[in-house]
Amino acid sequence: MHAWSAPRVPTLDGTPPALRIHDSARRGPAVPAAEGPVGLYVCGITPYDATHMGHAATYVAFDLLHRQWLDAGREVTYVQNVTDIDDPLLERARATGVDWRALATEQTDLFRADMAALNVLPPTFYVGAVESIEWIVPIVEDLLARNLAYRVPGRPGAPGEAAEPDGDVYFDAAAAASAAWTLGDVSGYGREAMLEFFAERGGDPERPGKRDALDPLLWRVARDGEPNWEGDSLGPGRPGWHIECSVIARRFLPAPFTVQGGGSDLVFPHHEFSAGHAAACDGHRLAEHFMHTGMVGLDGEKMSKSRGNLVLVSRLRHAGEDPMAVRTVLLGQHYRTDWFWTAELLDQARRRLASWRARLATATLSEGAGLVASLRERLADDLDAPGALAALDDWAAGAPDRDGDAPGSGAQLVTAAADALLGLRLA
Ligand code: ZN
Repeated sequence: MHAWSAPRVPTLDGTPPALRIHDSARRGPAVPAAEGPVGLYVCGITPYDATHMGHAATYVAFDLLHRQWLDAGREVTYVQNVTDIDDPLLERARATGVDWRALATEQTDLFRADMAALNVLPPTFYVGAVESIEWIVPIVEDLLARNLAYRVPGRPGAPGEAAEPDGDVYFDAAAAASAAWTLGDVSGYGREAMLEFFAERGGDPERPGKRDALDPLLWRVARDGEPNWEGDSLGPGRPGWHIECSVIARRFLPAPFTVQGGGSDLVFPHHEFSAGHAAACDGHRLAEHFMHTGMVGLDGEKMSKSRGNLVLVSRLRHAGEDPMAVRTVLLGQHYRTDWFWTAELLDQARRRLASWRARLATATLSEGAGLVASLRERLADDLDAPGALAALDDWAAGAPDRDGDAPGSGAQLVTAAADALLGLRLA
């Protein structure tokens, strides 16, 4: 699957300080390896809905990480998936009378356009679930052969419920426990919290015949009216979500790779079991570090399709909003905090952006060099983008450095730094 076009990223002189991050799996600060190539996997969208502010905040946060690594001269391999077959996609397609493939294509295109507008650098590999099925099947077969997965028998439908066919394959989390992964390694959650989130986030704790309520689905055998793919010895069907990301990550990245990322609602069960599947496959940890972004609400409420209060990037774009103002709002919140989108935040972002742009005309080279150092220092501290924007505010509010170079001589450097380090286009 193709990603979106890659903009040219300016390069800056000098080197940034060592990057420190908050590793959610280690429940504390961490310093990723300072040298060598880096690998990043960020869970992509299920393309049944346009990009809302929660998605945008996540991809902008990991775009910052990507940019700090590029600034440090690192070779970055960035992988993102598109869950272009899954229950929510099929449900939405059915409810709206649209072909699921057409819905996925349309929403993926919209996502690409939103990301390009927000100046988010594209992943190196952008991989769809459908195109990964042929890689997933032999992995699930192998887990079954090693008794780290099992088949669940079918059952007749209870009143008001569909019958389940024989043969759905589940991961045996207890059997798969190893030095590389045990249940809870990634999330740190206790069983009660796991059961709650599993039920809330697409799991099926009540499914009869499972060895443990928390065991996740690896392969769903074909049902009438649902698309399915050839599964060799598994029979026709489609894969579960966690094995999709696990297999794509292992195919395109070394084990372990540097950072697994996503929204904080992916910690459990998704990232927990993606890591569990990977460790069961080859005995390696999936990722060195895990980073999770906060949730975005609207005006004090949770943002959700069912509440009808999604703030969509595409809607703002089509209304003529400057995507850099949207990006400024996102950068103004620390990536790990939960926050609420408001019209006031957007107004404030427009004013900040205007003040930075206006100040370029008088920027001197020495100011520019000082600003580069401040931005790098803030961003190396667990991607403190709000701190970096505050440094831009201080620079914009300060009097031009009259002892330095000619007014405007630093405009190009400031513009390059804002773009390279923050993805903000000021010019
Ligand atoms: Zn994922």
